[in-house]
Formats: sequence, structure tokens, C-alpha cells
Amino acid sequence: MSTSTTHIHWFRNDLRVSDQPFISELNVQHHFGVYLIDPSLFAQLPWGFRKTGIHRAAFLRSQLSALQTTYRKLGSDLLVLYGKPEEVLPELVAKYNATLSFQQEYATEERTVQTRILQKIPKNRVFTYHGNFLVHPKMFSFHEFPKSFSGFRKKVEKLLPNVQRYPEIINSLPASTEVFQTIRPNCVSLHPKTVFPFNGGELAAHTRLQHYLSQTRKIDHYKRTRNGLLGTDYSSKMSPWLSTGALSVSNVYAELYQYEQQNGANEGTNWFVFELLWRDYFRHAGKYYQDKLFRASGLTNAPSPGKMDKALFHKWASGETGNSFIDANMRELFHTGYISNRGRQNTASYLVHELGLDWRWGAAWFEHHLLDYDVYSNQGNWMYIAGLGFNPKGKSVFDTHFQSQHYDPKGAYSKQWEVERIN
Ligand SMILES: Cc1cc2nc3c(=O)[nH]c(=O)nc-3n(C[C@H](O)[C@H](O)[C@H](O)COP(=O)(O)OP(=O)(O)OC[C@H]3O[C@@H](n4cnc5c(N)ncnc54)[C@H](O)[C@@H]3O)c2cc1C
Repeated sequence: MSTSTTHIHWFRNDLRVSDQPFISELNVQHHFGVYLIDPSLFAQLPWGFRKTGIHRAAFLRSQLSALQTTYRKLGSDLLVLYGKPEEVLPELVAKYNATLSFQQEYATEERTVQTRILQKIPKNRVFTYHGNFLVHPKMFSFHEFPKSFSGFRKKVEKLLPNVQRYPEIINSLPASTEVFQTIRPNCVSLHPKTVFPFNGGELAAHTRLQHYLSQTRKIDHYKRTRNGLLGTDYSSKMSPWLSTGALSVSNVYAELYQYEQQNGANEGTNWFVFELLWRDYFRHAGKYYQDKLFRASGLTNAPSPGKMDKALFHKWASGETGNSFIDANMRELFHTGYISNRGRQNTASYLVHELGLDWRWGAAWFEHHLLDYDVYSNQGNWMYIAGLGFNPKGKSVFDTHFQSQHYDPKGAYSKQWEVERIN
């Protein structure tokens, strides 16, 4: 990069300070971070609702407030602006005669934006990189993307010993020349039944991870509890921080590695790594397949399989299908912005295979609500269930009555949400 006295980092899904590749480039006098609230984040989708709902927006605000606090403690600042990145960033670079860095993304809209930015800023002023992978793309290559997760896992698992194993600590940042407007956390109150009653930010993420690892050792039982539905501890709940990059996946892995060094590896810790690799699989798949993640036919050449029936969709989305297990999950999603993996699998299967609707409609509804929305994991898992990619069995049809009896045998979960109607 060209020598400049100011460096700006554009934060995207990397809302943290530790494990940031741009930090090693910070050979400058001044630095500040910028986050842009792109108007498209709240755009009306053709499916009939906005892209981002209230829970996701509130969590984002809490993350930004936390990031700004950390930035200020380290001697710098975070600027948060409403505007299109491709318009605002070139102006900031020109105004401060600065260099710019950002993490690359691979989905259609994100790529379009970054291409426009790169057209407007001289090459020697921008540093972009691949980030937030557990196994970094530079560590392996493939001629053809692995058709199944197990093919991917076999290839990358042996590379795990080369992944960063110690959490990084940052003590200071170059000073910002300006003090920006303070971002206050939101005042949206949490639903009393939420299983994600946590704040945004790197510190909250570390606290939660420590709770799940050394403080309670819940991780040891993860393999057995991970299909749970009630309470905060059946799974790690790391996804909202991982998806927004408040904690990097390699940092999570590093802390898990240290836990294993002290307490020994077990089936819980092994299964947790297995799940982190699922996340990696979909992120690598996003990098590889790009626009194909959004086709009605997914990775196949099948004709568009789903129908567009508004009344049916409305019943599903508002938890009024009459199937108490599905309805409970849809109500939990609506009221809290989070549901379990088991709940996601069942509700997705119900929309696609029981109601016969277009999977992308359901995926968009998840995008609207999920605190942990991640374009690659979301599209990937939906396509997997719909049988339009990544699934060696073809498709995954869940028998929701069996699932409810098995995972909610006393009906406690369904009962809990029965009273929480949406309309
Ligand atoms: C239809 C559908 C949509 C989904 N959409 C998303 C999404 O938008 N964002 C998202 O992060 N996850 C998504 N998932 C995956 C999974 O449900 C969540 O990652 C998990 O429930 C998050 O809770 P946790 O952090 O407690 O997970 P844990 O069970 O504690 O797992 C640890 C971590 O492993 C990763 N992980 C676990 N399961 C999966 C999986 N099936 N696919 C990819 N990564 C996984 C996550 O990063 C998670 O935080 C989706 C799953 C389905 C079936």
C-alpha cells in the first residue's frame, strides 16, 4: 500500500479488533474504523418484507456500540454513517488522503459493492483480504469444490494443526484525528423467553465462550445437548458473534484448543470443531459458487420447484400452520430473532416439502429475523434441505411429528410458545 498518514478500515462482517489482518498493515500515524449502514440493509424485498428486521438491527447496534467503546479504549475511534459504501468510502479516502482496508465478501450484492469501490479508489491505496475462515483459502486448493461436507472435511481437517492456536491481544491503535458521534446501544427490550439474552461485541462474545468452556464445561456435553430447544446452554450460542465477526472463528478455535490442552479433548469438543467446519464449508462454498447461492434451482439445473402462495407463506411465517412444533419455532423466531438448529431444520423442511413453497422465500424470512444471519450458512443450509445443493442424499425431509416427539417429548417447548401469538 502507498505510504499515507491515515488508514481507514471499513468494517463489514468483522466487527472486532483482535485477529484482524489489517492491523499488521497499520504502519501509520492515524487510524479510524468506519461502519456504513447501507440503505439496502433495510430495503423492501420482493417477498413482501424488509431485508432486516428489528432484532437483527438492534443486535447490530449493540455490536457497533461495543466496537466503538473498544476502539476508544485503544486510542482510536469508530465512525458510523448511513450511506452507500461505494459513495462514502471514496470520499473519505480522498478527504483524509488515506489508505483503506476491508475484508472481502463473495455474495452477489457484497461483491458488486466492493467492485464499485475498487473502481473508484487507486489500487495502491486499498488492501483487501480473505477473512473469517477457520481454514484459510491460501492453505489449500481444489480443482472442483467438494460435493459434500465430508469430502471437504477430509481435505481440511488435517490442516487444523496449522490454524492459529493462541488468541491475539491488541493493546493500542494509532490515534484517530477526530472524535466521532457516540453510538448508544439500543433500547429494544428482550423477550423474556429468549435463549439469546446477550449483548453484542467482542467482550460479550469472549465472556460467553468462557462460560461455555472453562466456567461451566458445558462443551463436554455439547454432542448430547446440541439438539435442545430450551435454555441458553444446549448449544454454544456463538453464532450471532461469529456471523458478524465480533469474534473470529480462529479465535474461537484458539480458545477451544487451549481448553483441550488443559482438560483434554472429548466428544463434545470434537463435535464442536465439526460444526465450525460446517460453517467453514458454507463460507468456502460461497466464495466458490457466488451468485449460484441465490438461484431458485440452487446448484442444480432443476426447474424452479417452489410455488408462490402468499396465504400459505403467511401461515408459516406467523406460526399459524396448526403444527404446534413448527408454530412454536416460528413464534420464537419472530419474537427473539433466534431459533435452534433443530428448529431451523424442521421449519425449513416444512416450508419446502410440506407447503411446497420457494425455499428462497423462507431463507429471506430467516435473513430478516436471525441475529446470526450469515448469507453462506443460511443459503447453504436451505439449499441442503431443499435438495438443491450440498446434500449427498438429495434432499432432507423431516417428519416434524416424529421430531417433535423425539426432541420435545413432554411438549414443554411447544407449550412455552403456544401463548405467544404473533397477530
Ligand atoms: C435452514 C437453516 C438456516 C441456517 N441459517 C444460519 C445462519 O443464517 N447463520 C448461521 O450462523 N447459522 C445458520 N444455520 C446453522 C445453525 O443452525 C446455526 O449456526 C446454529 O444453530 C447456531 O447456534 P449455536 O451458535 O448455538 O451453534 P452450536 O451448535 O453451538 O455450533 C457452533 C457453531 O458452529 C457453526 N454451525 C453449527 N451448525 C451449523 C450448520 N448447520 N451450518 C453452518 N454452521 C454451523 C455455527 O457457527 C455455530 O455458532 C442455519 C441452519 C439451518 C438448518
